[in-house]
Amino acid sequence: MPFGNTHNQLKMKYSSKAEYPDLSKHNNHMAKVLTPAMYKSLCSKQTPSGFRLDDVIQTGVDNPGHPFIMTVGCVAGDEETYEVFKELLDRVIKDRHGGYKPTDKHKTDLNPDNLKGGDDLDPKYVLSSRVRTGRSIRGFCLPPHCSRGERRAIEKLSVDALGALSGDLKGKYYALKNMSETEQQQLIDDHFLFDKPVSPLLLASGMARDWPDARGIWHNDNKTFLVWVNEEDHLRVISMQKGGNMKKVFTRFCTGLTKIEELFKKKGHEFMWNEHLGYILTCPSNLGTGLRAGVHVKLPNLSKHNKFEEVLKKLRLQKRGTGGVDTAAVGGVFDISNADRLGFSEVQLVQMVVDGVKLLVEMEKKLEKGQAIDDLIPTCQILKSGADKTYLQKLRDFMKKHK
Ligand code: ADP
Ligand code: MG
Repeated sequence: MPFGNTHNQLKMKYSSKAEYPDLSKHNNHMAKVLTPAMYKSLCSKQTPSGFRLDDVIQTGVDNPGHPFIMTVGCVAGDEETYEVFKELLDRVIKDRHGGYKPTDKHKTDLNPDNLKGGDDLDPKYVLSSRVRTGRSIRGFCLPPHCSRGERRAIEKLSVDALGALSGDLKGKYYALKNMSETEQQQLIDDHFLFDKPVSPLLLASGMARDWPDARGIWHNDNKTFLVWVNEEDHLRVISMQKGGNMKKVFTRFCTGLTKIEELFKKKGHEFMWNEHLGYILTCPSNLGTGLRAGVHVKLPNLSKHNKFEEVLKKLRLQKRGTGGVDTAAVGGVFDISNADRLGFSEVQLVQMVVDGVKLLVEMEKKLEKGQAIDDLIPTCQILKSGADKTYLQKLRDFMKKHK
């Protein structure tokens, strides 16, 4: 039953108009699409586990905007949230995922052989490469709504399943509550572990309840394959290493992820997935692939160029600081990753990052030498599927010619 005061039964005596949130200073996808009429039609609904509209939108009400990215402003509490509140969520999804329609179907491609290149991003600029996704275990509530018992059951299931990984992927689970403060901080500083529950986005959604109970990190011996347990999603699966070999990182990611899915299946558990939304995750921004492929890359000159934002947008890339989503870039080093998750396959998204980052590094080198970059600036945004050759292909041809 109730986890937050949004379940206050007495509020039912007020009209939906009286309960409607003040969104006048807001700039997130939820605030853009929610209307009083929609609130009225949805506020008395709940999912079978009891997740309500106010639970869905609370994080977006409490966090009007974000200094670095356009946030979604809502979360799911269980798999059914996306169905019960689709009047709101379909619109949020459309707004966040480039016009993705309720009738659209999502495609999955976890075959690393389909990635062209990607093993040669210049390590003088590309300091590290990483691919992550999330997975949710069907039948359990998601982190904003799960109970302590559910959360502990997810932890146990995950530790049991991951324990069967072997070879390069063989590893160990480290529960947050058994870690010393120093060990935890070291893992955070080395970019392996999620931050402490300091993000207002995480706090307002209810995901940080009971912290650090049943949270932890599983990783292989050399920390190139990692699984976060019970942070924003049930599971976050991560492959990473220093330097610019994104191909190797993605290959390990695909192999490990496929093995994990098999191990869960063996134990009678499947991941939340459907044809339309792909993999179902807590934040609607992560639906589909849930994949964020990114590099930490040095761009001190390009980041000062007045076309930097425009170039990123056209390449469908997003920038963050290197300490995570809530940090600003320091010293011209950025976390550059794919902006999309849904409507593109895993391979397509990693391809965009590989090709896009190559171009950014090319630009940085030119600016370093005091040369102009006008001829490298993309003329249009990369398309989902062009009847003609996609911009991506043109970009690849261009890069070959200028090698
Ligand atoms: P996400 O939640 O998408 O995994 P965050 O922005 O919250 O990413 O960052 C989580 C952690 O992962 C942070 O410590 C961040 O520094 C680290 N990280 C993200 N991308 C990279 C990368 N390419 N190389 C090294 N560390 C990274
Ligand atoms: Mg995060």
